[in-house]
Amino acid sequence: MKEKINQIISKYNSDRSRLMDILLDIHDEKGYVDKNDVNQLAKSLGISAAEVKETVSFYHFFSDKPRAKYNIYLNNSITACMRDRSSVKEAFEKACGTTFGHVTEDGMFGLYNTSCIGMNDQGPAAIINDIVFTNLTPYRVSKLIEGLKAGNELRSLIYESNGDGNNADPDMHAMVNNNIRKGSILLNKDYKKFDVIESELAKRSPEDVIQMIEDSDLRGRGGAGFPTGMKWRFGRRVEGDHRVIICNADEGEPGTFKDRVMLTEFPDLVFEGMVIAAFATGADIGLVYLRYEYKYMLKYLNRILSEMREKKFLGQNISGIKDFNFDIRIQLGAGAYVCGEESALIESLEGKRGEPRDKPPFPVEKGYLNYPTIVNNVETLASAVRIIKNGAAWYSQFGTKDSTGTKLLSISGDCKFPGIYEVDWGTSIREVIEMCGAEKVQAIQVGGPSGMLIGPRDFDNLSSSDLMKWYKPSGMMVAEKFFDRKLSYSDLPTGGSMIIFNMERDLLRDVVMNFMEFFIEESCGSCSTCRNLPYIMKMKLEKILNGHGVRKDIDDLLSWGKTIKASRCGLGQTAANPILSSIVNFRHIYEQHVQAMADYDNTFDIVKSVEAANKFVGRKTEFHSN
Ligand code: SF4
Repeated sequence: MKEKINQIISKYNSDRSRLMDILLDIHDEKGYVDKNDVNQLAKSLGISAAEVKETVSFYHFFSDKPRAKYNIYLNNSITACMRDRSSVKEAFEKACGTTFGHVTEDGMFGLYNTSCIGMNDQGPAAIINDIVFTNLTPYRVSKLIEGLKAGNELRSLIYESNGDGNNADPDMHAMVNNNIRKGSILLNKDYKKFDVIESELAKRSPEDVIQMIEDSDLRGRGGAGFPTGMKWRFGRRVEGDHRVIICNADEGEPGTFKDRVMLTEFPDLVFEGMVIAAFATGADIGLVYLRYEYKYMLKYLNRILSEMREKKFLGQNISGIKDFNFDIRIQLGAGAYVCGEESALIESLEGKRGEPRDKPPFPVEKGYLNYPTIVNNVETLASAVRIIKNGAAWYSQFGTKDSTGTKLLSISGDCKFPGIYEVDWGTSIREVIEMCGAEKVQAIQVGGPSGMLIGPRDFDNLSSSDLMKWYKPSGMMVAEKFFDRKLSYSDLPTGGSMIIFNMERDLLRDVVMNFMEFFIEESCGSCSTCRNLPYIMKMKLEKILNGHGVRKDIDDLLSWGKTIKASRCGLGQTAANPILSSIVNFRHIYEQHVQAMADYDNTFDIVKSVEAANKFVGRKTEFHSN
C-alpha cells in the first residue's frame, strides 16, 4: 500500500493543495486513511501530520478507521423522514445485523446517517459505495442486502431502471430522476451548445460582457444575491499572476437539488458560463467544486470537458481568440455543508479543512492560492450564457424590477409533483402551491433550514381569534397575505429550496428539531456561538416540547438567536433560523406548549441546585440575601 500511496502522491505532483484528491484516491483504494498513511503523506507533501489529520477528520466521507465492504449512507433530511425513513432505517439494521454508526463484525456492511444528499424529490435515498439508491422501501432494502449477501455486484441490484434524461448516459448510469416539471430560459432544449463561445465572444470586449451582465441585474443564485456583474468587475480589476473562476456546485442546503438537474441535463450551459466569466474577468484557471454526493456524475462531466477541449472551447486561444487561455478542473468535495460558503470552499480546494476564512480580504481579492477568485453558483453561470446570447433587455423582461430573470425551485415535501420548476422571479406562493399540487398547506420552508419557515401568520401579529379566521373549517388556509407573498429579493429571497408541510405535520417536533440537528452536525466548530448555541437552543426547545417550558424560554430563544448572529459565517448566523422563524410565524404553537405554565420557571430551586453541585465538587458556597 505504501508504494500505491506514493504513486497517488506522484500523480498529483506532491502538490499539497491537491490533498483532497490524494485522500479521495486513497479512500478509493483502501477505504480509509490510517496513522501510517498520514505520516507518509505529511512527509511527502512537506506538511505536518496534524495538517493531514485535520483534513481527514473534517469531512463526512473520510475515515481514519477501516470501513466496510459496503458503506451505506442513509439520508436523514426532513423529507426522507416524512416518507417513512424510520422503517427503511430499521430494515437496513435488520437485514445487515447492526445498528447505524457501526460496521458488521464480518466487515461486510457499515451503516451511517448522512445529511441531505440532493434527492429530496425521491427519498428516502442512500449512497452505497458512491451509487445512489432512491425511493427506498423496507422491501427494497431487504432485497438489496439479500443480493449483496448472495455475492451479486452492487450495480446489478439497482431496482429501478436508469433515471430520466442524461441519468441514463452510460458514463452516469444512475437511477436518479430529474423530475423537471417546468422549464423556461435555462431548462430549455433549444439551447445551442457553445454558441456564445463560438460566435459571440470574439465580437465583444471583456468590458462589454461585464456591462451586459450588469445591465441585466443578474444576482447570485446561491442565495446571497450579490450582483454578478459587480463581482466580475471587481475580479477583473484586482492584479494577480492568475485569476480563478470557481463554479460552486456544492449545493448542500437541505431540500436543494437544482444544481443536480442543471449539471445532469445542461452541463454544457454551466461550463460555457464559466468560459464567459473567464473571458470577462481575464481568468485562466477554472474549478468546479462538486459535492461528493454527486460523484456519480464525475465521469460524465469530465467527458463533457474533454469534448470541449477537443473543440477548442477550453485550452489555449479559445475559439481563436488570441491569448484567451482557460481550462476547467472538477474538484470533488468529501461531505461538508459549510463548504458551500465560498471561502470554506476555497480552503477545501486547497486541500484543507473547510473552515470559512475571516473577511476581508474577500475571495475576489485573495482567493484560491491567494489569486483573485470569482465564485459563482451553477445557476448564475448558466444564466450568464442566456444574457450574452440574447441581451440584457431580453433577460430583464423575465421576473420583476428588483429581481430579474428566472429562478430554479427545488420543491419537495407534501405535494403531488415534487421536482424542479423554473419560474419567473415574482411568482407567488399561491402559484407555487398550485403548480406542485399541494393541499392543506400548513407551512413552507423557503430557502432551506437557513431560510424561513413561513405560514399564514407570517408578517402578522394576530390574536388567536384572528387566527381562526385564517382557516376554513376543513383546515384549508384562506390567508391572502401568505398566498400572495412573492419570491423576490425584496419579499421572499431564496436559493431555491422549498419544502412543503401539510396540516398533519408536527412543525416543532419533526421539522424544526430536524433542522437544528442538521446545524449542530454541520458546524465546523470554530466559533463558540455556532458550536454551542444551536445545541443549547435545541435542548430548550426539547424542554418546551416536553411540557416543561415557560414563556421566558421563548424569550430566551429569541435573545440567543441574536447572539448567534455574531458567528463568523452564514452557517452560524442562520443556524437559529428554524427556531426564530417558527417563533415569529407560528408562535401560537409554542404558546400551546407553555400556556399552562407561569411566566417564569418557579420550579427551579437555585439553592438546592448549587448545594448539589457543591457536594459533587467538594466546595462550599455562602448565600447572601442581597
Ligand atoms: Fe464554523 Fe459555524 Fe463559525 Fe461558520 S459560524 S466558521 S460554520 S463555527
